[in-house]
Amino acid sequence: MPALWREKIAAKADGQDGRTTLAGGNVKTISPLRSLAVAAALTLTASALAGVAAPARAQGVDFAKAEITTVKLTDSLYVLVAGPAQGNILASVGPDGILIVDTMYPQMHDKIVAALKAISPQPIRYVVNTHLHGDHTGGNAAMARLGAVIISQDNMRKRMAEGPNPSPAAALPTMTYSDTLTLHFNGDDILIFHPLKAHTDGDSIIYFRKADVMQVGDVPASLRYPNIGVEAGGTVDGMIAAGRQVMQVANPKTKIVSGHLGPVIGFREIEQQIVMFEAVRDRVTAQIKAGKSEAEVVASKPTKDFDQARLGGAITPDRFVSLVYQDLSKPK
Ligand SMILES: [Zn+2]
Repeated sequence: MPALWREKIAAKADGQDGRTTLAGGNVKTISPLRSLAVAAALTLTASALAGVAAPARAQGVDFAKAEITTVKLTDSLYVLVAGPAQGNILASVGPDGILIVDTMYPQMHDKIVAALKAISPQPIRYVVNTHLHGDHTGGNAAMARLGAVIISQDNMRKRMAEGPNPSPAAALPTMTYSDTLTLHFNGDDILIFHPLKAHTDGDSIIYFRKADVMQVGDVPASLRYPNIGVEAGGTVDGMIAAGRQVMQVANPKTKIVSGHLGPVIGFREIEQQIVMFEAVRDRVTAQIKAGKSEAEVVASKPTKDFDQARLGGAITPDRFVSLVYQDLSKPK
């Protein structure tokens, strides 16, 4: 089933321009944008990102100092960037209005609105959430108050509505889908699709097919240690599979917008992240089989040879190893 389903998604994303989807290998990096300097120096406690849709857990971020940098990708697509702890927002701006992917933490709302106003006076009509974590959904309620329709995958809304810390009704998506949804907006065909259990079990990946720009949320993308939503159905193997799926649906020229850092990356970073994930997974699995505890596995520094390139994010190597351990030690 999953293989068939992936084929279906890849076929959907294969536009009428005759472009073929990628089978693997021989890829190159695309973007000069990744070296974008982000002025805001943010720090975040490791535990803060572990929460489910709990904006209150964003302690440690100095929101007063967090500034948004707007990066223009095309005439109608922009990325709002605010530092490693905040999810990058991809914005489609045009005659139909504004669509944004994710809403950062609630404290960022006014700055987001100001940054969008600086691009266009149009109303914010849609929000698409990549997943439920607070750094991506914290501003939902405020966006809904401005009249935006909030869209997510079914499982994301379910978890937000029913979890141990249920979100207020105003923050919940009002439109959900199961496998795919296409929005026709600002002249583009926007494919929203659901990878199987990946960063969480309710992830969405958003592909602007005509512009050839894809926002992938927190599946493996920019070089950092990603959070794994082990409390929300996310798994290590699912993260790896989603990284591969992104490379099937996208092509080597696609501008891939990462959930954090970047903001634009290419297949090369995804492949490097998959290599890292597989190596760390295998090392941690071997130690679990040998009866090691979480603390022992963390202390053995199984990410050591990958650390140097990945210290710019909000998740520390130790925190990442803990998350990998927690997933792999779950009874299957
Ligand atoms: Zn996340």
